[in-house]
Amino acid sequence: MNKVFCLEDSWEKLIHEIASCTKCPLHLSRKNPVPGEGDVNSPVLIVGEAPGRTEDETGRPFVGAAGHFLTELLYSIGVDRSKVYITNVVKCRPPENRDPTDEEVAACSPYLVRQIKLIKPKAIIALGRHSARFLYQLAGLKWTSMTREHGKVRSVEILGLKVKLVATYHPASALYNPGLRDEIEKDFKGSIRQVVEEAFGKQAEGLLKYMKK
Ligand code: URA
Ligand code: SF4
Repeated sequence: MNKVFCLEDSWEKLIHEIASCTKCPLHLSRKNPVPGEGDVNSPVLIVGEAPGRTEDETGRPFVGAAGHFLTELLYSIGVDRSKVYITNVVKCRPPENRDPTDEEVAACSPYLVRQIKLIKPKAIIALGRHSARFLYQLAGLKWTSMTREHGKVRSVEILGLKVKLVATYHPASALYNPGLRDEIEKDFKGSIRQVVEEAFGKQAEGLLKYMKK
């Protein structure tokens, strides 16, 4: 194929672009951008908000305290984190872990859109309201609030793909609030487990070896 006319996106191109990205002010304070990690062929995509301190230092998503909790939550439904793809709406750390601004989400979210097109997931789990609001919008749904939406399975079309979308609270919020910890655990053991198992289909047998009965 003539390279000049090759419009196909690729992981290599995407990771390279994120690594050298200066599209928003977060590039000024980041140590490392955090593009995402996991199985790029997974039927399950997990989307958090933005990297924190440990993620910024290592360039890997969800490796700090919230990340340990996410890893445990996945394990509790029989899934090793290497079997899913994990990323964030915003790829560079906001200073002092503040919420990402609307401008930062707008600047960075095209990378997530490209990741969704490359992965073609069957299930997307949105962690936290910034991630949930963005994905609801992408699916043409109106976002209300996490109190109302968490744990609900939404059968939607995102970028032409049929997807089961479930939002839940951000695992970091559970670190300071035991009530939310219960809610997240219930969402994972309920609807998230259901859509994840359905997405993996036959492959689930191999995955569920860690299942706690
Ligand atoms: N919180 C997030 O939203 N993402 C990470 O990668 C880590 C913490
Ligand atoms: Fe680029 Fe996203 Fe990092 Fe902003 S947060 S500099 S848009 S990669």
